[in-house]
Amino acid sequence: MVSLPARTTRADEERWVAEMVERVLASERKSRPTDTELTERAVQLSARYLGGRATPASVRWVDNMASRWGSCTPIDGTIRLSRRLVGMPAYVIDYVLLHELAHLLVPGHGPAFWRELAGYERLERAKGFLEGVDLAGGQSEAR
Ligand SMILES: [Zn+2]
Repeated sequence: MVSLPARTTRADEERWVAEMVERVLASERKSRPTDTELTERAVQLSARYLGGRATPASVRWVDNMASRWGSCTPIDGTIRLSRRLVGMPAYVIDYVLLHELAHLLVPGHGPAFWRELAGYERLERAKGFLEGVDLAGGQSEAR
């Protein structure tokens, strides 16, 4: 429900609504990285922690991941992040990106997988953060 000034014409009203919608969209764009920014970030993380061996083709936000924080398709290098990560600290989003990047190299969660992530300084802290979120609101895991 929005209240408008008493005497507005239909055209005024439409202009005003369009402006408000644009404002909301602009602030939403500001509060989360775009897919292009996520992809650039993933390339940086791969260079820094994985010697550039993981080469993400694209990273995008998705809505339809209720039980996972991220997923990837190694054959085409695509990575998807759950929109539930929006607003979480950057080191947590970096961890999920790095986790999926490591899966482009190593499937599963064996010792070889965790060795890929060992260089990430805030690994345990990020995992702890997500475990805390899971405890607070249901089950999920970066896979
Ligand atoms: Zn995983």
